[in-house]
Formats: sequence, C-alpha cells, structure tokens
Amino acid sequence: MIKAKKNLGQNFLVDKNKINEIYNSLPDLSDNFVIEIGPGTGNFTEKLILKARKIIAIEIDQDMINLLKNNEKLNNEKLILIHDDILKINLNDFILQEENIYLIANLPYYISTKIIFKMFQYKQIIIFAIMLQKELVNRIFAKINTREYGRLTVAIGSLFSLNKRINVPRECFNPIPKVDSGFIILKRIEIDFNYNLYLKFIKECFATKRKTLLNSLKVSESPYLEFVKLYLIKNNLKLNIRAEQISIQSYLKIWKEIEKYAK
Ligand code: SAM
Repeated sequence: MIKAKKNLGQNFLVDKNKINEIYNSLPDLSDNFVIEIGPGTGNFTEKLILKARKIIAIEIDQDMINLLKNNEKLNNEKLILIHDDILKINLNDFILQEENIYLIANLPYYISTKIIFKMFQYKQIIIFAIMLQKELVNRIFAKINTREYGRLTVAIGSLFSLNKRINVPRECFNPIPKVDSGFIILKRIEIDFNYNLYLKFIKECFATKRKTLLNSLKVSESPYLEFVKLYLIKNNLKLNIRAEQISIQSYLKIWKEIEKYAK
C-alpha cells in the first residue's frame, strides 16, 4: 500500500460509486484529446482510458509514476505519462495541433487556483472537469452580494459556463481530508477581448475586501480608476459601490467600454 504524501495534496478518490458518478457525467470523449493532471494511483485514469481518444497524464511524484507504469490496465498506447510539475511544464510541447481538449483533474488543493489560472492560457482546452475543495466551488458558483462572491466568481463566470456540479463528501477520499469537495464541469465561452488584461482588472477590482470598488482600484494603482469613476457617474451608480455588488455581466460591460475608450 502506497503512503500518501500530504505535501503533494495526495487525497485519492477511492469511493467506487463516486468515481462512477463522475465518470458517467462526462460526455463521449472518443474523439477528444484529454489532459489529466495528477493521475495519482490511476483510479480515475483506468476508467478514462476507456472513454478518451488520447490522454496525457502529468504527475509530479516519481512513486506514482512507477505505480502507474506497473499497472496493466494502463498499459495502453492511448496514454502518455509525463513525470513533471504542471506549473512548470509547457503543454504546447504535447498538445501540438490538438483542439477541443478536455482537462480532467482531481486537483491538489495546495495549488488548485494556480493551476486553473495557468490552464486558462491554453485556449485549446475547452472543458475543465475538475475536483476542488467545496469552499472554492461555492466561491465559483456564488451569488452577487454574498460574502463568497469575488474575484474567482467573476473571473470564471466571465469566461466559462458552469455546466455541472457534483458534491463529493470527504469520506470518498483516502486519506480523508478535513473538508468536502465538489466536482464541476466548466465550458469555455468564446470571447472577443484580451482575457489576461481583463483578469488583471478583475483582480484590481477585488484588491481590498469589503472596501469600495474605487478604493480597491486606487490601492492597486489601476490605470482604469478614473475611467471607472466616470462610468459609475454616467450610469447613475453610487460612487461607494463595492466590488461584490457588481454583476458578472456588468463587469464585462465595463471592460468592453474600457477596451473601447480607455486605452
Ligand atoms: N487523480 C488521483 C485521484 O483522483 O485519486 C489523485 C488526485 S490527488 C488529489 C492530486 C495528485 O496531483 C497527486 O497524485 C499528486 O502527486 C499530484 N500533484 C501534486 N502536485 C502536482 C504538480 N505540481 N504537478 C503535477 N501533479 C501534481
């Protein structure tokens, strides 16, 4: 029995019913190229290999790589195993001409948001099917004007449609983590603006929790402070409005105006 490494976020999904529920929530992938981050012991990869056309699985832990290589069920030319750090690797070396890529991962919690934001950069990845801590899932799906509504809600809600949510209690993992999880499927929306600049702007808007939007923009030395101020005045909005009081649609509208007039 392999010992889980806490520092690598190793909580393996072992509940067979949950694995099946998640597997069955995925569409037919027989035409798709799939990227799996952190295959671990391969419990999900074993199933995925039945469904996908091709999988590249990136795993940082050499012990896991050895285990995966010795697993007969994974001895299949559809699967390419890569021993590397997902935060350091350049996926373009493996993706090549592929499009319509599915990303599937039970993300290591200690770097889950970092991984998500890195993966955003690969436009070829159109679906993010990912397991996250419940707290992060709640933030992604948060309603406007709540404590959980923030940068993550707006950033992800602007770029993706939220297609699926499956609750995954902590007991489904081994070792059992301190918190529950959620599996979600996000589908990329086609956009016509520079999302890196947009994400930077959203970060500036939420720079200071519970302060006004204009204050946050000031603190983060945003180049758009004056423009947003004028926008609020023009649209009869209060100058002391807070970032969590503005809808995703309104952020997109403000950004469109910025792209048109403020640069
Ligand atoms: N997919 C398996 C499952 O569902 O049971 C394992 C999931 S476990 C939560 C996270 C996996 O990501 C572990 O196998 C861990 O070794 C791997 N991992 C952690 N940090 C990583 C990194 N920077 N790059 C690639 N893999 C990483």
